[in-house]
Amino acid sequence: MAAAARAMTENEQRLTELDSAIGDADHGGNMRRGFQAVTSALDTAQDEGQLTGPGSVLTLAGRTLISKVGGASGPLYGTLLRRVGKTLGDEAEVDPAVLSEGLRAGVEGVVKLGGAAVGDKTMVDALQPAVDALESGFAAASQAALHGAEGTVPLRARKGRASYLGERSVGHQDPGATSAALLLGALAEVAG
Ligand code: ADP
Ligand code: MG
Ligand code: MG
Repeated sequence: MAAAARAMTENEQRLTELDSAIGDADHGGNMRRGFQAVTSALDTAQDEGQLTGPGSVLTLAGRTLISKVGGASGPLYGTLLRRVGKTLGDEAEVDPAVLSEGLRAGVEGVVKLGGAAVGDKTMVDALQPAVDALESGFAAASQAALHGAEGTVPLRARKGRASYLGERSVGHQDPGATSAALLLGALAEVAG
């Protein structure tokens, strides 16, 4: 979560620029503020002895994103993290196979909540290829997410705000697919 918060802060401007082309120019702020809220919620919970393992860390992070991020991305990423947390539980050791299983369940949750499929020009275009590549490891998943995010450029948006633009959404990289690649990059950084 610390690596994710760092990545969102470092890339705030870029995410906002992407969202200003095909959305409402708040994705960078949403992600930076959301993950800052996660960081402080985790600090507080840690001080109060409420973090008993990876499951409680991730479910609190997910809940915080859902409650603090107003945009579409908050509930979607919140659902993702909560599902990963639920799957991991509070075992002290994080088993990479269980983490992968959690990520698969998390992305299923995102698809179920948002109704987007691969090709709709959303975060799912980075998340789905990433989970499909997980059997080759977290670095491969991160690469697949990056590739998926870049692949959103020629697509026409069919979900979220960008879909209001129709044809005019073509030629721009999706902000949520870009932040999803950052999230997978943060995972690869610490778990790869
Ligand atoms: P908002 O669009 O409400 O301002 P953000 O700017 O924070 O929210 O997030 C926008 C991103 O959310 C989009 O770039 C897209 O990747 C993702 N998104 C929007 N709607 C959906 C959806 N239904 N399913 C999956 N992802 C979505
Ligand atoms: Mg936006
Ligand atoms: Mg918004």
